[in-house]
Amino acid sequence: MEVSLDAPFTELLLLSMALESLREVTLIGDKMSDDILGLLDPVNRINKLLDAQDDVVQQRDIDGKYHPSGISGCARKLSYAWLKERPKHRIGNSLRRTFQHGHSIHDMLQAWMTKVYNGDIDGYWTTFSAELPIGSTELAQQYNIAGSTDGLITLTCEGKDPIKVIYEAKSASVSSWNNVGSPMPKHIEQANIYAACLGAEHILFDYYNKSADKHKYFLVPFSPELWDATIAKLTLVTEKIVLGELMPREHSSFECRSCGYYYTCKPELNT
Ligand code: SF4
Repeated sequence: MEVSLDAPFTELLLLSMALESLREVTLIGDKMSDDILGLLDPVNRINKLLDAQDDVVQQRDIDGKYHPSGISGCARKLSYAWLKERPKHRIGNSLRRTFQHGHSIHDMLQAWMTKVYNGDIDGYWTTFSAELPIGSTELAQQYNIAGSTDGLITLTCEGKDPIKVIYEAKSASVSSWNNVGSPMPKHIEQANIYAACLGAEHILFDYYNKSADKHKYFLVPFSPELWDATIAKLTLVTEKIVLGELMPREHSSFECRSCGYYYTCKPELNT
């Protein structure tokens, strides 16, 4: 039997179906299942768990060091980092999911690299060191830098100088990844610092499309000029601190939105 629906009723039905498809939790079952779902309440419980992570301050947040991942962009953040200002994170559960997804992808990529660069490759003995800290290197100590590279590939061959390559992984959604035609300047500056401290001549970028599981690799040489510019920036931050001054605010809606120093800095003052 064909059932005919009048227009308003059809619209309501379609609207309700669309809303149903937007829900994060769909109940299939009886009244008892409804009670159990209310008890489990996964959406709110996970959101709370992730929101609470905004209150966690890690040792690296207050170690008084400059971290390569935060050296590009607003230099005022470096002043606060040097002063060991306690950040109040503003990441929230949605962006926190994105970050943690990125961390898991890093773990996966580093595990692959560890297996691939482990032994003889075309006459070169290769090793891969994941999460290699740079803080104890001479340059890092000289310029008050701390952090870890995603990886260092070392290729050695008798009679030749060893070849060192920094590995830097970045995960991206498909829309961002499609627009990646070369490594982003802030990523180059970050990896260039690891290269300087660890004496690497090259950087291998791995932009990983987390929606479609694809890579874009780029090999970039170490830039002494960029390293000089980084040193100049860090030196200026330190010199200003000695004079009792902070670097100026560099307001950007994107950067300020998730900046842990937002409440201290009050970027809207923008002076
Ligand atoms: S809130 Fe904005 S201007 Fe202030 S330190 Fe953070 S990024 Fe810089």
